[in-house]
Amino acid sequence: MKIANDSFPVSTNARNEMIDITDKVSSAVRKSGIANGSVLVFCPHTTAAITINENADPDVTHDILLTLSSLIPHNRAGYRHSEGNSDAHTKSSLVGCSETVIITDNRLNLGTWQGIYFCEFDGPRRRTVNLQITGQ
Ligand code: ZN
Repeated sequence: MKIANDSFPVSTNARNEMIDITDKVSSAVRKSGIANGSVLVFCPHTTAAITINENADPDVTHDILLTLSSLIPHNRAGYRHSEGNSDAHTKSSLVGCSETVIITDNRLNLGTWQGIYFCEFDGPRRRTVNLQITGQ
């Protein structure tokens, strides 16, 4: 059993944005040399998240962000958090801070239409993604 820790930066360009990080995760897995196991993709931020969804039609990520923003408005009567980004914290918790992907033959074992996304909810900012690759 081998464990490889890695990380990479992500620069976001908008307040709400989903950035496809599949290639970066895939490169780290290749570099680790681990053939079979799993990779934990972790977001160490409280106003961003990690998810897996369709990477073929960009309208899908647009519609996900639209839905989240209509369910969770930026400004809302009753918010108390003084930074003014309670919507971003809420979206982060709903979407979640990590995903795990199976590694088979040193490659990400994703479905045909799946990509790994870094979800920004309070950008633009410079962010980090942490990886832990385990296996043999
Ligand atoms: Zn805050």
